[in-house]
Amino acid sequence: MRASSPSPISGRTRIAALIGQPVGHSMSPAIHNAAFREVGLDWRYVAFNVSPQGLEGALRAVSALGLGGLAVTMPHKARVAQLVDEPSVAVRALAACNTVIPLADGRLAGENTDGDGLVDSLLAGQVEVAGRRVVVLGAGGAGRAIAEAIGRTGAGDVAVVNRTVDNAQVAATLAGPAGRVGDLTDVADADIIINATSVGMGVGGGFALDPQLLRVNHVVVDAVYQPLITPLLGAAAERGCQTFDGLGMLVFQAARQFRLWTGVEAPLATMRAAVTTAMG
Ligand code: NAP
Repeated sequence: MRASSPSPISGRTRIAALIGQPVGHSMSPAIHNAAFREVGLDWRYVAFNVSPQGLEGALRAVSALGLGGLAVTMPHKARVAQLVDEPSVAVRALAACNTVIPLADGRLAGENTDGDGLVDSLLAGQVEVAGRRVVVLGAGGAGRAIAEAIGRTGAGDVAVVNRTVDNAQVAATLAGPAGRVGDLTDVADADIIINATSVGMGVGGGFALDPQLLRVNHVVVDAVYQPLITPLLGAAAERGCQTFDGLGMLVFQAARQFRLWTGVEAPLATMRAAVTTAMG
């Protein structure tokens, strides 16, 4: 059933929530509430500002209050990974959990949808990952999640390039046998180049990579979504590369959360439109 306006809140309305600190600028309420409305689910998504001291209480509230699902953002992903009853393969590898799924028996399953969200966005754009040569720029939370998911998807080579080499080593290990620490000379032979550094963010954000290194056959992905067209993506498009902006990863990771919580297929176009509107 499709609903153009939200159903009135009643005693049957299910609640999904985001916990983090801060949460005020999160796009997730816009994305998930638009999705619930689109598919006619009597659910709402709200954001709670939760301190590290309040975290364990917030997790107990999931089953106590009968929440439909919980999303987790900074600074709680690592601690939640330790606290959930059934961490997924990705959560165990990354020691970071961004999605809590309440189970029927009151226990909590944990998932990390970030890296798989990026892979999903590539597959939806007809870009195969299995067997391909991938350069991942960055080895923070996003870079590690992406390297792990790309490696698990069967990429042929995952070269992690990062300012701090020790961090690159951690991310490369997460990518499995295909993972290694790389450098910018790896870009020439890469099929897919993913920026998972924060370079390019904000006004005048700079280039994550010298654009002279880009060739028309490169697929270029930026995890940064503010601005939507980063300097890197702008330069890549000028050179004729296929490009993917950071909203792909954001929306596809949210779509995985939506499916895990509701069992309903996520309305991707509606979710993307909602976040685009919310970004102004
Ligand atoms: P993070 O954990 O703080 O990691 C930041 C990464 O950027 C590290 O690899 C860091 O290198 C590198 N870096 C920072 N400043 C740099 C500079 N001046 N030059 C070179 N490298 C630099 O952040 P994160 O959570 O991974 O997020 C990274 C970006 O991805 C952010 O822009 C975030 O908004 C975006 N993101 C998008 C999504 C999405 O759904 N689209 C999801 C998550 C994150 P060092 O290791 O050397 O410090």
